[in-house]
Amino acid sequence: MQVSHFLKVYPYKEKPGYLLLFSTKRSSVIVIKEETFQAIEQGALSPEDEALLTKHGVIVPDQEKEKRDIRSLVDRKNAMNPVLNSMVVLNLDCNFACLYCYEGDMKGNLYMSDETAASLIDLIKKDFIGEKKKLLIDFYGGEPLLSLGLIKSISLELKGFAQEKGGSFNFTLVSNGALFKRQVAEELVPLGLERIKITLDGPAEVHNRYRPFKSGAGSFDTLIKNIKETCDLVKISIGGNFERNNCGQFVSLLDFLIKEGIKPDKIGGIKFDPVSKRPEGDVSPADYNDGCMSMDEPWLIKASEFLREEILKRSYNTPKITPIFCMVDNNSSFVVNFDGVIYKCPAFIGKEGFAVGNVRSGIDDYTRSYKLGLWKDHQECAECVYLPLCFGGCRYTTFIQKGNLDALECRKNYLDATLETFIKQEVKYR
Ligand code: SF4
Ligand code: SF4
Repeated sequence: MQVSHFLKVYPYKEKPGYLLLFSTKRSSVIVIKEETFQAIEQGALSPEDEALLTKHGVIVPDQEKEKRDIRSLVDRKNAMNPVLNSMVVLNLDCNFACLYCYEGDMKGNLYMSDETAASLIDLIKKDFIGEKKKLLIDFYGGEPLLSLGLIKSISLELKGFAQEKGGSFNFTLVSNGALFKRQVAEELVPLGLERIKITLDGPAEVHNRYRPFKSGAGSFDTLIKNIKETCDLVKISIGGNFERNNCGQFVSLLDFLIKEGIKPDKIGGIKFDPVSKRPEGDVSPADYNDGCMSMDEPWLIKASEFLREEILKRSYNTPKITPIFCMVDNNSSFVVNFDGVIYKCPAFIGKEGFAVGNVRSGIDDYTRSYKLGLWKDHQECAECVYLPLCFGGCRYTTFIQKGNLDALECRKNYLDATLETFIKQEVKYR
């Protein structure tokens, strides 16, 4: 047996005589005695240790085969993926006037029509065949709950269709949360609503400055009331966008949630991301961040580590470090804009050259426009321990930085700087 190529080994000074291991391909964290690790290298493992370490991806029979397997991982995932996932932007309208909203001039009375929704349903029905057993829609906006009627009619139709085919249908919402009253949740859960992501940009005084209603009034109290009255019906994820000058204030938001009874057992998870810098005129959904993008700036690394620790310290859930499956690489995942134009990633909405089709005419080949598999041309990726966590990084970040997709967004520096801390947080709190 050999040590896995996709293993990070860290000294573990918190526990003398032990090492901290992280398998980038399995996302498993292992604390191991130094002498056991030496036994691997000497070929002197006990059968019990060998079985355990094999199970957690620490040792493999053949490192070269392991590398080949990871290089084909995206293709294998695509072949086995049972989920057909569409992200649907229902409108570009909003009842908020967020300070950092990127929809800018595009924002307004732009809604998906019934005719476009009918074509979308037809397209989904056509693709929901063969091995696909799960149908998942993420409803976005603008503010998706301004299109409540359409959410209900699309869901009703697709839920019935998926059930007829022996599959399942579920949907999620990325909403500002202001219209998510208990009655709305009660109507949507039976139709398949399984999760809603609501953004809180800090404690009341900060949030209200960044995310007021169009009228200028603060929205914080409305959101807290809505979260309280719906968190027993549906999983709620809380997101938040921080900047350099306010990231420390997110700690008081966490304490406020606990004080108000919105405790870890009531919330699906919490994750805070930096307000992403986007080029002028960028019209991708304002709330689309989801931590796809990594960042090398020292203050951002420190802020991310700090906020993750504060979340975990209070026993809230937050996403684990897992292999990335970018929507662009996922051949069963698409973004449909309100006008029916299809993209591969919400961040590319409206960008010339990145539309991949239309709900009326279907999906075209996007291999070249999105530079699929670009990382395969790079020897350093083929040998990189972080390959399962990266696969060439985020194309949108590359696009912002270079204006095209001809380069990779190498996450090596970011992962070198953060992974050890994130892993130690996993051990300490989970
Ligand atoms: S291109 Fe980037 S932003 Fe878009 S889905 Fe992939 S990782 Fe996320
Ligand atoms: S882009 Fe960088 S971090 Fe990602 S796999 Fe390639 S070398 Fe590794």
